[in-house]
Amino acid sequence: MSGWIRITDYIDCSEDVQSLRKKVRDDGINDIYPDSIHSVDGTMFFIVREQEGKRLVVIGEGKIFDKFSGNVITHKGYNIKICLLSHQNCSALREVFPFTAPVSVLDNPVTIGLGDRLGLASAGHIRLIKKHDVKPVLAQQSMRELNLTGRTYTGVLDDVSWAVFQEGYTGGFGADGDHLKKPGEIQMALDCGYTMITLDCSEHINNDIPSLSKERIKEKYDSVCDCLRRDYEDRYLNKTFKLPEGYEITFTLDSLMEIVLIYQDAINFAVDIYNKYIKNYHRKVDFEVSIDETLTPTSPQAHFFVATELEKANVKAASVAPRFCGEFQKGIDYIGNLKDFEREFKVHAAIARKFGYKISVHSGSDKFSVFPVIGRETAGRYHLKTAGTNWLEAVRVIACKCPDLYREMHKYALGVLEEAKKYYHISADTSKIPDIDTLSDDELPTLMDENDSRQVIHITYGLLLQAKDSNGDYIFKDRIYKVLYDYENAYYETLESHIGKHLTKLGVK
Ligand code: ZN
Repeated sequence: MSGWIRITDYIDCSEDVQSLRKKVRDDGINDIYPDSIHSVDGTMFFIVREQEGKRLVVIGEGKIFDKFSGNVITHKGYNIKICLLSHQNCSALREVFPFTAPVSVLDNPVTIGLGDRLGLASAGHIRLIKKHDVKPVLAQQSMRELNLTGRTYTGVLDDVSWAVFQEGYTGGFGADGDHLKKPGEIQMALDCGYTMITLDCSEHINNDIPSLSKERIKEKYDSVCDCLRRDYEDRYLNKTFKLPEGYEITFTLDSLMEIVLIYQDAINFAVDIYNKYIKNYHRKVDFEVSIDETLTPTSPQAHFFVATELEKANVKAASVAPRFCGEFQKGIDYIGNLKDFEREFKVHAAIARKFGYKISVHSGSDKFSVFPVIGRETAGRYHLKTAGTNWLEAVRVIACKCPDLYREMHKYALGVLEEAKKYYHISADTSKIPDIDTLSDDELPTLMDENDSRQVIHITYGLLLQAKDSNGDYIFKDRIYKVLYDYENAYYETLESHIGKHLTKLGVK
């Protein structure tokens, strides 16, 4: 019998969950997650760590006990149900413990998206978040990430709910259907219980406009219907728009024509989706408008135009993600001129303040040099998204604990890099990555500190996870999950420290 059964020695003398958690800690019952101990109407719950995986243990009888399915044993007169962390049990968990279900969180000043491609990171994130003044969006996946990892929205959210329960985190968290482009995807994310929708408008942004001649732009603009043009010109030309902090925005006919042509379709798309799916949804949904995954950096003028048009159409956005100047590449620091970034970011922040939403910073992992600007210029109201860095920290643990596996992954990643570049834009120079056969095991984790190797591992996650041998068995996936299960605390600690650095630089208390 597993060590956790000893908890039955205490149950009688202690109804109070806090003292029970303390006893389990003090007694060194290591296969129980102490913060997962909960009790409702005389039914006790906790998560245990078994060789084959985690299990939910329910002790009691009656209605709540019956909601969960699993194997029942009796011990010292107790009915003890040992349950798989299945979707069905997770639905019951969210019913009995509402804090394990996602809620709208974007109204909080600092929110951080903590995408977790493997479904193993959330507990580490929660251990950090518990100590800070920040609300997490723990489930956050794009369709691209779902496809590359072979997961589902339901599965992503279930993994988060179990982690929230395991850590006893009652502070509330969001779930973001990230970078959704199609109505069907939005409906699916909402049906799965997601509380935030990030609408990716990139396919409706006309990137070719800036490269056209003035005459051609004029020609295209003239084909926009008369009444619309007159309305735009009335509202935007010969005016100075005042923003907080003394910033001002003005438009010339040339700049207005260009901006209308680039963004008009994207705005119509956002308005349409908002009206059809978000506005009258039966629960509150945080709606983010993303115009970041596009070739054209969003000028403050363009941002102001988009914000004005969304407001005019009564779209209540919780956040808007502009594309900033410079480059926000995956998993590495900001590339570009910091002074330019700061100058433009201040105006973006002022626009967001005027229109009452938050700036959302995408690809926010590891952008340490711009974090102080983001924290300061938004006066501590922003949303920051991270994802891939949490996978990189997982790989760091693998490099430390299982160097042979890391070596295999590293070589495989280099071999499929060209394929991975179809999904992600990076500037990694593979000639700068040392030949792995010349490195000692101790040196392997340092590859996770170098931009070139970081980016290679960062973007090949899908190909690594999906890789199969000629028998149809996964080459890496099962071993990756096994190492991270065996060294779970090491992974949690790495995440606490790495995401903790983000919070420190952002100035989060
Ligand atoms: Zn984005």
